[in-house]
Amino acid sequence: MALFDLHHRRINYLRISVIDRCNLRCLYCMPEQGVDALPHDEILTYEEIIRVAGYAVCNGITKIRITGGEPLIRRGVVGLIERLYRIPGLVDISLTTNGTLLKDYARPLFDAGVRRVNISLDTLDPVMFRRITRQGSIEDVWAGIHTAEALGFAPIKLNMVVLKGVNDHEIPAFVRLALEKPYHIRFIEFMPTGAGPYQMDHYMPTHDTIARVAECAGISPLPPHVNDGPAKRYRILGGRGSVGFISPMSSHFCDTCNRLRLTADGRLRSCLFSDREIHLKPVLRNGGSEKVIDEGLRLLFHEALQYKPAGHKINFNKIPHLDRTMSGIGG
Ligand code: SAM
Ligand code: SF4
Repeated sequence: MALFDLHHRRINYLRISVIDRCNLRCLYCMPEQGVDALPHDEILTYEEIIRVAGYAVCNGITKIRITGGEPLIRRGVVGLIERLYRIPGLVDISLTTNGTLLKDYARPLFDAGVRRVNISLDTLDPVMFRRITRQGSIEDVWAGIHTAEALGFAPIKLNMVVLKGVNDHEIPAFVRLALEKPYHIRFIEFMPTGAGPYQMDHYMPTHDTIARVAECAGISPLPPHVNDGPAKRYRILGGRGSVGFISPMSSHFCDTCNRLRLTADGRLRSCLFSDREIHLKPVLRNGGSEKVIDEGLRLLFHEALQYKPAGHKINFNKIPHLDRTMSGIGG
């Protein structure tokens, strides 16, 4: 079986947000206060997540990414991953984390089978880290990165959201890091979603970021087949790592978008930039037989794919205002 949307895109990638809460408050992702956390019983149980994932994999999803909020703060998340690995046909599970708890979770995640982690790291400066995350400690993230590296996680991808006037002066330092270490540094365009205080004036287009990177090191584009999802990757001449650029704003990748998102409260979201969501909980919790639930999921997945837009229509003069913060959507 395969899932296709109305624009003939094959959908084989599901991002599952296991929790909307986070132990950080990144300036670009969520406001410091005033974000209501979902009540416990609104969040899908692990049983329900497995149920949806099982249906999705049976119908053509081959890759799952676990995200949040901060996925590692949900108790039992490693057990969930172990169970997901048992779904026949699922080829790959990866995780996106802020890294603060990774030191303790790296070993259990590795033992569960995870090899690929994306770690968000927007600065190499401890003071700036505190400013951007409002409450984190960069030492914890480094401890997580080093533990993951020592265990053999590969590749280690570091996601840096480039914020003009805030951390863009650190681009050379990230390039030096990719020269010295075998990390994939991924420079992500900031998306002004209306959630936090940061808006368009902090947006820096990828072509400016590439120019800054090229001032610091020789780079050459890697062939398209080694691109990493939406990231356009470049080799750094003489370096151990690589750099990649993710450009959701300036050069969106909607034509090749292969993903669906499952929010922590059980809604299918077919586009990051569209608040149209399909609620799965009524079907999951109606007490029906497996067959009835599967039939319900079939109809709801179909509906979600019907509404997957051909592309987002972000207009640079009009900032989108999403109903949810990125922490609520899963990034
Ligand atoms: N808490 C985890 C983390 O930070 O990696 C996972 C969830 S977070 C929402 C997923 C990704 O979304 C992170 O790499 C984060 O930097 C990115 N993100 C959040 N808000 C963003 C924004 N406004 N623009 C671009 N990327 C954003
Ligand atoms: Fe939390 Fe990740 Fe959002 Fe930062 S980007 S506030 S770590 S969910």
